[in-house]
Amino acid sequence: MSFPKDSHQKAYVCAYVFHGTHPVLLVSRVDGDWSFLCGGTHPDDGSAYRVVGIGHVLGSDPALMDLHDLPSDWEAERENVGAEWCRSRFVPSKAQIVENSHFTRCIRAAILPSLWDDSA
Ligand SMILES: [Zn+2]
Repeated sequence: MSFPKDSHQKAYVCAYVFHGTHPVLLVSRVDGDWSFLCGGTHPDDGSAYRVVGIGHVLGSDPALMDLHDLPSDWEAERENVGAEWCRSRFVPSKAQIVENSHFTRCIRAAILPSLWDDSA
């Protein structure tokens, strides 16, 4: 398991990560897709998220390379840039995610690809 060799492989980022205003503090692999998120909350619609080439994200933060072997349906979070990644198995239950708080929004969007505007 490793990052896709194709740097244009799609990855999801939230708008804060996309614009570089927040660092990546949460990486999730729901259904095998790579999502690089700030871990904060966002408006509950597709406009808060972007699809980018994975190489674009990895190039922005060398610490992300530590997660090259993160398996599908796992996630990793850290408290701040420079902190250790904390990995945990992701439980893909939408109901549970919605009730859960802190990164609810980011993850929920990641498991609901229909929210995303692929044409952007
Ligand atoms: Zn975010």
